[in-house]
Amino acid sequence: MEEMTKGQKIIKFLKENLYLVVLGISAIIFAVLIIIASSTATTSKVNDNKTPVSVITTYYTPVLDATICKEFSATELQFNKTLNQWEAHKSIDFLASAGAEVRSITSGEVVDVFSNYLQGNVVKIQHANGLVSEYGSLSDDVKVKKGDKVSANAIIGYVSDSAANEAEDGNHLHFTMYNDNGKKIDPAGYLNISSK
Ligand SMILES: [Zn+2]
Repeated sequence: MEEMTKGQKIIKFLKENLYLVVLGISAIIFAVLIIIASSTATTSKVNDNKTPVSVITTYYTPVLDATICKEFSATELQFNKTLNQWEAHKSIDFLASAGAEVRSITSGEVVDVFSNYLQGNVVKIQHANGLVSEYGSLSDDVKVKKGDKVSANAIIGYVSDSAANEAEDGNHLHFTMYNDNGKKIDPAGYLNISSK
């Protein structure tokens, strides 16, 4: 009799709470459908294009109110009046007032902060898409350290004339960009700057 009572109790409970059971099963089916749908969507995106469509990077100019005093040149020689010699300049020089804010062109991780006599104080930032940006001739008051995560347009330091190899050019940012193979590339292809 007791067994029957137990069984009857369970059946009674299930009947009374049938909507709960149905709801639970529906929720599980719904969740599974969403997981399947989202994984299918991701896969087809990657297959269609090889590169994920979601990567759209916005680049900010590293110094506002600056004039470009030296453009990027991979082979064409430019005169370096400090060193008194002609050289390729695989960077862009932004002439600005001493202490002008220098900002990360986009979000990334600081992979190096160093200083030496020729380049002054330098910050190097690795970006998610494989590109690296490098900010040279900064003042001693560098705002970031190695390992820091920086957001786009974050202040990382200030313009100065700390780079001895370009001291004659005065206060400026010596700005360099590298592709994912470590090759120097023309920042003008990424930054919204009007040259000259
Ligand atoms: Zn330079």
